[in-house]
Amino acid sequence: GNVTFTMIKPDAVLDNHIGGITKMMEDAGFRVVAMKKTRLTEERAGKFYEVHKERPFYGDLVKYMSSGPIVAMILEKDNAVLDFRTLIGATNPAQAENGTIRKQYAKSVEANAVHGSDSDENAQIEGDFFFSADERF
Ligand code: ATP
Repeated sequence: GNVTFTMIKPDAVLDNHIGGITKMMEDAGFRVVAMKKTRLTEERAGKFYEVHKERPFYGDLVKYMSSGPIVAMILEKDNAVLDFRTLIGATNPAQAENGTIRKQYAKSVEANAVHGSDSDENAQIEGDFFFSADERF
């Protein structure tokens, strides 16, 4: 797959890390296809994370992801989904490797700075959730 979907989460946006995080993405070879600063309502955050609705952290995650603005992006690169997951690092920043976005910017398992799609199929679904065809270049 050539594209993945990412969000810069509310904690990182609030702390003025949009530029630093986007620079790490571009330096790793990802090209920004689409980019938007927006805020999810609780209802829309709930829909985005519907796959996690049976998980114990779902309610907190939905509240957190709707607590402030986020930056949504579609990124392009060969092997985008897997290479991007390597770049962001482990979900828990305590386990994230040096050089990863979460090692540098994540505060906790929940406030972990960025989202990254886990499959080509979800990258399509998640990109379509935020962007229409005329917003991709
Ligand atoms: P993402 O899907 O955001 O890239 P991920 O695939 O690394 O993250 P998932 O297990 O899919 O992690 O969980 C989705 C998100 O839910 C995590 O990024 C994190 O913000 C939150 N989360 C996951 N596990 C926990 C937990 N135990 N407690 C609180 N929040 C959690």
